[in-house]
Order: sequence, then C-alpha cells, then structure tokens
Amino acid sequence: MSTSYAPPVQRLITELCKLPGIGNRTAQRLAFHILRASQEDGAALAQAVMEVKEKIGLCEVCFNLTDEPRCRICTDPRRDHGVICVVEEPSDVIPMERMHEYDGVYHVLGGALSPIEGVDPEDLKIAELLARVSAPTAAGAGATPVREVVLATNPTTTGEATALHIAQELRGRAPEIAVTRLASGLPVGSDLEYADEVTLGKAFAGRRAL
Ligand SMILES: [Zn+2]
Repeated sequence: MSTSYAPPVQRLITELCKLPGIGNRTAQRLAFHILRASQEDGAALAQAVMEVKEKIGLCEVCFNLTDEPRCRICTDPRRDHGVICVVEEPSDVIPMERMHEYDGVYHVLGGALSPIEGVDPEDLKIAELLARVSAPTAAGAGATPVREVVLATNPTTTGEATALHIAQELRGRAPEIAVTRLASGLPVGSDLEYADEVTLGKAFAGRRAL
C-alpha cells in the first residue's frame, strides 16, 4: 500500500490494523481520531496500552489475567474452591461471572486442541489442571479438595475435542471427581464469550456428566 502519510501516521495505522476486526479504512479513521484528540487523551491511550503490557500477567493458579501473582477469584475465600470451571480464554471468564450463578473457581487453558493448527495438549494448561485436581494443597494452605470440574470450553469442534480429552484424563487420574459439561443450548460453533447470561445460565444449570 503506497500512501502519502507521514511515517509516524503510517506506523500508527499499521499498528491499528493488527487489532481484530480493524481493516485499513477503520484504522485510518481511528488514526485521524487520535491525531485530532488532545495531547492528554493521546498520552492516556498510549499509557493504558503500556500499563496492561507491563502489569498484567497470568494467575499462577488458574492462568486468568491478573496484576498480582494470584487473581482475585483464586484469592477470594468466599469462592467455592472445590469446583473448577475450565474455559479456553481469559475472556470466557467474563460471561461466566456475569451470569452470577457460578461461585467456584476457574482454570484457563489458553486455547483449544486443534491438530490442524498444531495445538497439542502440551500447548495448553492441561497438565497444570491435572496437577491442581490431584494435589489440591498445591493451590494453597487449607485448600478445598476438588469435587467437580465443569468443562466450559466453546461449543465448537475444537472445544468439544478439548472437553473430551480432559474428561478422559480426569477419569484416569481422579475418578472420584465429577466431570460435567455445559448443557447444549449454546449456539453450536459459537464462542462462550458472546453468549448472553440467560442462555449461559441455563447451560450451566443443566450441565451434564461426561
Ligand atoms: Zn487465579
């Protein structure tokens, strides 16, 4: 793409283009919006981007996003540490929390199994989940033994394959733990991230044993 933009403007457009759902035209519009914005607003945006990259990491227990070694959910004594909800991405924790029916803790895999895309079990936090389930004391002093693992991976081919793989591993290692899967009712092929809380609430309430 040849343009007559000054290099700094072109650089901003190029970076904005890397964001999901942002095409070249939108990137140009956003860049011009930023150029028109006050010095303070421009600096605040840049600062906010820098700050999340510097301060936000993954929880050492559940791999959700956090600015502390352990996230707020893992350190909350009011949460039921005997139930672990397994999701693909940190963004999937948000709809689960929004439905206000789940008071257990989470485990974020960091993706889903996909032989085509070369995502194998060791690329996800599956070993960490199995370790958490078989040695609950590793999660902290006075930790509650895990009673149930709710598999809330997306209702997609890769999400289903991931749920089945984990269910098999859990059955082999910890047969006493109930392994459940969110009920159908979630739109097939969609992401948990986009489920509304009523649909997700029903899917959670109707979860079945795997
Ligand atoms: Zn955590």
